[in-house]
Amino acid sequence: MALPRLLARALHRAAAVSAPAAPDFNSFVVRTNTCGELRSAHVGQKVTLYGWIQYQRQGLFLVLRDFQGLTQIIIPQDEAHSHVKKLLSNAPVESVVRVTGIVSPRPPGQENPKMPTGDIEVKAETAEILNFCKKLPFEIKDFIKKSEALRMQYRYLDLRSLRLQHNLRLRSRVVMRMREYLCNLHGFVDVETPTLFKRTPGGAKEFLVPSREAGKFYSLPQSPQQFKQLLMVGGLDRYFQVARCYRDEGSQPDRQPEFTQIDIEMSFVDQAGIQRLIEGLLQYSWPEERGSITTPFPSMTYEEALAEYGTDKPDTRFGMKIVDISDVLRLSDIQFVQNALSYPRGTIRAICIPQGVRYLKNKDLESLKESAKSQFNQEIMEIIRRPDGSLKSLLTKFLGKKQQLELIQALNMQVDDVVLLAAGEHKQVCSALGSLRLLSASLLEAAGLALRDPTAFHFLWVVDFPLFLPKAENPTELESAHHPFTAPHPSDASLLHSDPTKVRSQHYDLVLNGNEVGGGSIRIHSAEQQRFVLEKVLKEDSEVLSHLLEALELGAPPHGGIALGLDRLISLIVDAPSIRDVIAFPKSFRGRDLMANAPDYVTPEELEPYHIQVSWPLEEKEAKKN
Ligand code: ASP
Repeated sequence: MALPRLLARALHRAAAVSAPAAPDFNSFVVRTNTCGELRSAHVGQKVTLYGWIQYQRQGLFLVLRDFQGLTQIIIPQDEAHSHVKKLLSNAPVESVVRVTGIVSPRPPGQENPKMPTGDIEVKAETAEILNFCKKLPFEIKDFIKKSEALRMQYRYLDLRSLRLQHNLRLRSRVVMRMREYLCNLHGFVDVETPTLFKRTPGGAKEFLVPSREAGKFYSLPQSPQQFKQLLMVGGLDRYFQVARCYRDEGSQPDRQPEFTQIDIEMSFVDQAGIQRLIEGLLQYSWPEERGSITTPFPSMTYEEALAEYGTDKPDTRFGMKIVDISDVLRLSDIQFVQNALSYPRGTIRAICIPQGVRYLKNKDLESLKESAKSQFNQEIMEIIRRPDGSLKSLLTKFLGKKQQLELIQALNMQVDDVVLLAAGEHKQVCSALGSLRLLSASLLEAAGLALRDPTAFHFLWVVDFPLFLPKAENPTELESAHHPFTAPHPSDASLLHSDPTKVRSQHYDLVLNGNEVGGGSIRIHSAEQQRFVLEKVLKEDSEVLSHLLEALELGAPPHGGIALGLDRLISLIVDAPSIRDVIAFPKSFRGRDLMANAPDYVTPEELEPYHIQVSWPLEEKEAKKN
C-alpha cells in the first residue's frame, strides 16, 4: 500500500480513538433532520422532520418537538395547500406528525434567541399525521405540576419531559465513559452474571423465585458479590458489570427493590489501588457541564466520621461539626453531666448552629429536640449566646465565668448562635447530634441562610470501619458491617479470635455530599479465615456457601472490589430530588409498577407447576367471597 494511504489510515484510526465524531442522529431513518438541528445555514433546504406537536396557534404555526429540540413550522395559508392547513390545524397536541418544507429565515424582529433553532422556521409544504393523540391525562410541559403517582402511571408520557430526557441521556453518557475507562483504558472484562441464584447469608433480604422442584427456590442476588469473587478465582483478573441488584427491603423512601450498580473486582489489589481506580473512573466519566472533580478524594476513618459528624456518611459541604466538651464540663456540679461521664464511653458533645436565634423559630428548636428524643432517645439542652455576649441556658447557673468562657471558645460561639448539647453514651450522643446537624442545616437553608453550595461535589472516602457491629435487634450477636466476605485489617487479624468487636476491616465507603454512593472491600481469600468468620463469629450455616469456601481452597488470588450505586450517583449529578428521576421505569415507594400494575395475581393453575398455594390473609379472603 502506498505510504500516503497508510498514513491517512493511521491518522483516521487515531482520530477515531481520540475524538469520536458527533453522533449521526439521522442515519437509518426517514427524516432529514432532527427538530433541534436547523440553523440559518440550512435556509433554502427542503427538509423532512418527524416529531410531536408541542403546541399550535390559530392555524398559523405549530411547534414540533423531538428528543433534540423544537422547530417552528409555518402552516401554509394559500388555497393550494388547504389540505395541509386542515391537517395541521386540527391535529391535537402530542400527535405524531411528519412535515416536509423549506427552511426559511424568520422575519426580522421575530427571531427567538432563547431557542437554538430560533433564527429559522420551516414553511410546510406537505404533512402527514402519523398518530392522533387522544386527550392527555396531564400536560407534558415541565412547569405543570402533577402527582408522582399519575406520572408513574403514564411513565412513557413523563419520559417525554425535558427533565427525564436530560437525566436518562446524561446517565447513558456517563456509563459509556465508564465502559471506555474500564475496558479500553484499563483492561477490565464486562461479564454478565446470573440473576437466578441462591440465598446468600447476611445482608439484605432477597426476593425468592419459585422453581419447578417442590419446595426449592432461587434467590435474586442482592449483588453479584459471590460471582465477582469467583471470577477472580477463575483468573479473569479485572471484572466489571453494569449490574442489576435486587433487595426486598419493603417500603423505603428513595430506595428501589431493583437498582443498578457499577460492580468492580480486581485481583492482586489493595485498598489504595481500588480508591485510585474509582477516582480516575469518576474523573474520566464526570459530565463536563458539572465542572471538574479533584482527586485524590479526602479520607476519614469511621471513628472520626462518627465523632465529628455523627454518621458514617458525613456531608462535608458545611461545618457545624460535633464538638467534644466533656473536659470543659467535667468539673461542674451538674448531675446529668456527671452521670453521663460515669459510663465507660460517656461523653458530652454539642453542635453550634450559626445565627440560630435569627433563623430558627422556637417551634423549630422544639421539633429538633423532639426528633432527638423520638429517634435516639436523647435529651437535648439548648444554650444561646445573647447580644451582650452572655449565655442563656438552664446550665449557666451551674457554671462559673471561666467555664462559660471555655464553653464559648470550645464551640466558637458567636452572638445569636444556638448550641445543642447532649450527654450520654458516645455512639448515641454522636448519632443524635449528627442527625440534628442535618435537620438544622435544612431549617437554616429554608429560612434563607446559604449553607451548602448546590453546585459543589464533596467526595469522601470513609475507611477503617469495624469488621463487625452488634445486631440492632440483639446486641449480644454480631453482624458484618459490610458483608461476610470482607477481610480484617492486616494489623487486627489476630484479634479476630480474641475480640472480634475490636477488629477493623478493609472496607471502604465512598460518600458524596452526605450520601453513600459506593462501598467495597478487600476480601478474605483464605478458606480457613472465611469459615471462621461465618461459623464462629457470625454463627451462620457455612454449608450454603460451600461452593465459595471450596473455591477459596483451590487457588484463589488475593482480591478486592467495590460497587458504585449508579442511580444515586446520577441523581446527585443531576441534582434530582429522588433516584426515581434517573430510572426509566421506577417502582413506587411500595415497590409497585403503577403503569402495568405489578406485582399482580396469578391463577392457582399457574402456581401448580411450582407446588405453591396462596394462603390468603383473612380480610382478602372475605373480600373475595363478596
Ligand atoms: N457487593 C457489595 C455491595 O453491594 C459491594 C462490594 O463489596 O464490592 O455493597
